[in-house]
Amino acid sequence: MDSDFDTDFDTDFDIRKPENEREYENALRPLSFRDFSGQGKVVENLKIFVMAARMRSEALDHVLLHGPPGLGKTTLSNIIANELGVGFKVTSGPVLDKPGDLAGVLTSLEKNDVLFIDEIHRLSPVVEEYLYSAMEDYRIDIMIDKGPSARSIQIDLSPFTLVGATTRSGLLTSPLRARFGINMHLEYYDVETLTRIIMRSADILHVRCELNAAHEIASRSRGTPRIANALLRRVRDFAQVKGNGNIDKAIACYSLEALNIDRYGLDQIDNKLLTTIIDKFSGGPVGLTTIATALGEDPGTLEEVYEPFLIKEGFIKRTPRGREVTELAYTHLGRKRGAEQGFLFD
Ligand code: ADP
Repeated sequence: MDSDFDTDFDTDFDIRKPENEREYENALRPLSFRDFSGQGKVVENLKIFVMAARMRSEALDHVLLHGPPGLGKTTLSNIIANELGVGFKVTSGPVLDKPGDLAGVLTSLEKNDVLFIDEIHRLSPVVEEYLYSAMEDYRIDIMIDKGPSARSIQIDLSPFTLVGATTRSGLLTSPLRARFGINMHLEYYDVETLTRIIMRSADILHVRCELNAAHEIASRSRGTPRIANALLRRVRDFAQVKGNGNIDKAIACYSLEALNIDRYGLDQIDNKLLTTIIDKFSGGPVGLTTIATALGEDPGTLEEVYEPFLIKEGFIKRTPRGREVTELAYTHLGRKRGAEQGFLFD
């Protein structure tokens, strides 16, 4: 490896921001169950449901996929449509502003098509209400005209499958939740599965990546394929500029260091969160809203995007009195319990 590596790279780079990734995501997205690694139980069950629906030539029951961002909800819904051999339309909760928007999408669906609604917890209540009859009876009532001549007409829809994705299933209303026949939770991925995903992506991107380098990237990807793919692309940049274009373990470690991704896969925001609890709140317990205020973050985002992984990996505990950091967090940050410094990181 070059000895003159410098480290003046953009350390504010946020690997989790999907807008950094969108154009590549489609290229790397598996299109069939065969190419989709991990989520064993979920995939196994989906395969059965898809096969049964195909055998009956019926629309698959509506599917709710929940879990943290970047774990494959969009990918799986696309695969469901491919494996059913039907059309696929994508929209999202915030985009469907008015019932008319939803009616437009629903009436454009053909028999047994899949409609994917991302961030389904963000549907407005009035649009959600319209969705009920569409999901249940494949029918919607729409109002035409205004004032005294206003009347509602009923439109029959083709049978379709709604796949809803959410990072916050707790925010779904119970009538909406009840209308999904299939309800599945996606889990964080283990390092071996992420290594496989990285090797596959490297292949698609035509970059040579050694297995131990892929393993190193995988172990720092927060259990998330989106992050694994994004890190692979960043490491590829380093390999190209600072090496011979191939990714080996040394260049992988160097790049991840330069990007401030530490060996547990925690990034700046994770570390900031842990440091805040230690320095400002003596390690906790402290309420989620209080932490969020100290960090200038939205409590919901903390809870859905940052905290689950930290809890899973044992850095934070949820207690009845709030969040508490664990011994592992102290060790990781090189701190000693009881020796809090009483100041906030800068
Ligand atoms: P979500 O909708 O849950 O936020 P996506 O489905 O958009 O996540 O996945 C993000 C990226 O991660 C996509 O580019 C996809 O290629 C990749 N990905 C997700 N899950 C897998 C998987 N199981 N195998 C391979 N790649 C995956």
